[in-house]
Amino acid sequence: MAAIEMRNIVKEYGDGFKAVNDISLNIADGEFMILVGPSGCGKSTLLRMIVGLEDITSGDMVIGGDRVNEKAPRDRNLSMVFQNYALYPHLTVFENIAFPLRLKKGVPEDEIRRRVNEAADMLELHEHLQRKPANLSGGQRQRVAMGRAIVRQVNAFLFDEPLSNLDAKLRGQMRTEISRMQRRLGTTTVYVTHDQTEAMTLGDRVAVLRRGFLQQVASPRELYEQPVNMFVAGFIGSPPMNFLPAVVSGQRLKLPFLEVDLPAIAAGKVTDGQLLIAGIRPEHFEDAKVVDASRREKGAVFRARVDVTEWLGDSQYAYIPFEANEEVTKQLSDLAAELDSEALRTQLIISIDAMSRLRENHEGEFWADTRRMHLFDPRTGNNLTRDEAAAADLASLEEEELRERMDSSDTAAR
Ligand code: ATP
Repeated sequence: MAAIEMRNIVKEYGDGFKAVNDISLNIADGEFMILVGPSGCGKSTLLRMIVGLEDITSGDMVIGGDRVNEKAPRDRNLSMVFQNYALYPHLTVFENIAFPLRLKKGVPEDEIRRRVNEAADMLELHEHLQRKPANLSGGQRQRVAMGRAIVRQVNAFLFDEPLSNLDAKLRGQMRTEISRMQRRLGTTTVYVTHDQTEAMTLGDRVAVLRRGFLQQVASPRELYEQPVNMFVAGFIGSPPMNFLPAVVSGQRLKLPFLEVDLPAIAAGKVTDGQLLIAGIRPEHFEDAKVVDASRREKGAVFRARVDVTEWLGDSQYAYIPFEANEEVTKQLSDLAAELDSEALRTQLIISIDAMSRLRENHEGEFWADTRRMHLFDPRTGNNLTRDEAAAADLASLEEEELRERMDSSDTAAR
């Protein structure tokens, strides 16, 4: 096991295009780090540079304290677990796991047996050791692939979208499986995905990338509660955060449907008349009827016409169209390229109580938890309401949890 340190990593392709742009990222020994971002953001390129399949244009890649820029993949002692697990169909589970030890030549048979049995114990594969991969479930195959990595005693596991070919149910099971194994083994893990649900449920920390730039590295909770910018805020969460135009008016803020006090944390960072983007997550709205009086006054109540509803069993989504005034629309369309058009959505999606009797094309009364509203500067995308102290608290909680886990996996290993 080893820590992975990336210092100012750049990957420039022949045409001068930078797929990875000055990324510095420290992954602690035993940590489960997710690299996430939309297609083309550079996450696979970064992973391939860790493993040595891609040259690094500039910067340092340090694994377990050693600079590995010039080292061949086989000398980095990492294990890449691919989508298709790459198991040998004609070999038993035992032989599949033993494979890298047999390749090494000269490892005594009893040592091979001992290591395979140890891995099989850890992965609960003992009763399947004599089976062929075709007779295993997807989850068991994944464990065999990890078993092969365990016997090699690698510095880290690297996963590149390992679940993207699976159906939704199996993906859910495999997520739990990978997470459980990683916790038990305490092996440093880097996992690439474009799926924000995977990112949020699997990792200790998540590195969000966009167009080759690192946006934010934080625990899932910090990303959700204290995103640094509009991109991260919109990428994390499903359905995504609503973005609404908001105009500063003295100490107040005017949004479609709502007018609220300007949050204290943003005061001093904005000027009168300035156009901002307000972000409120769907789950921070509610049908006003089910909100009691004390909660009501902590947020804002408004009336709006519901266009479409979607009933999900445990909640329901309501789609509420809105129009910004002409001036605001013009300002926003000037900024559209930088904002990836996110700000130009013209409907709210809100998630409310499943029992609410909403009718399409009728007005309803809703409540917004405006305490959880974020404000973004539309020119830079920066979050003007990020609470640095709260973010630091969340980060230290995360560190403590990882330390505790590493202590207990050390104890288990002994
Ligand atoms: P995806 O989820 O689609 O795999 P990604 O975030 O993993 O996306 P990368 O595969 O890392 O993205 O690619 C990052 C960028 O680098 C993309 O714009 C891609 O087109 C570009 N790129 C990748 N390989 C090359 C290459 N050999 N030559 C030129 N450009 C490349």
